[in-house]
Amino acid sequence: MPRDLAFSCRCGSLAGVLHDASPRSGCHLICYCADCRAFARHMGVADRLTPGGGSQLFQALPAKIGITKGAELVACLRLSPKGLHRWYAACCNTPLANTVGTPKVPLAGLWVPLFADPAALGPVVTLGFTKMALKEPGAPKKDRGLVRMLGGLLMRSAASYADGTARISPFFTADGTPVVAPKVIDPAAKAAAYAA
Ligand SMILES: [Zn+2]
Ligand SMILES: [Zn+2]
Repeated sequence: MPRDLAFSCRCGSLAGVLHDASPRSGCHLICYCADCRAFARHMGVADRLTPGGGSQLFQALPAKIGITKGAELVACLRLSPKGLHRWYAACCNTPLANTVGTPKVPLAGLWVPLFADPAALGPVVTLGFTKMALKEPGAPKKDRGLVRMLGGLLMRSAASYADGTARISPFFTADGTPVVAPKVIDPAAKAAAYAA
């Protein structure tokens, strides 16, 4: 059964809801890419990475994400001038979601540790960029579920364009501008975040 799933940053100043959450409403994945890992380190949440240095994300439609408290705390960081928009709560540096730089692509990868109880998202079905996983116990050896991820993405995108909700997002205004100007990480902080 889809349900509304509450989330909040670590300090509780920012809170929100993922509407109609269910295993079919998005893709529950772990991304082992060095960029997601560097972002987690920079935010001070490396302790929430999975074995192998993975970031647990739920790719959802942005229109399903509502920020109910502390919307003015939303901030955005990019790890390079062309990198993903990585949204976070500025009060306590909790990651919120990553998106591309335009609401034309209806996709937000929510940081799953935001949810006190993520059970409604179902189990992790996709492992990505496992070649970049840290060599440590529990690290996966092979990607899986990427075709399923892509298929779900296309189907949800098409459905959201069909029902007119594709460009609704808590991270972009109606004209497609980011709600806050993204900053690019400074070089010293970047080097520290990528250092293993
Ligand atoms: Zn906070
Ligand atoms: Zn990644």
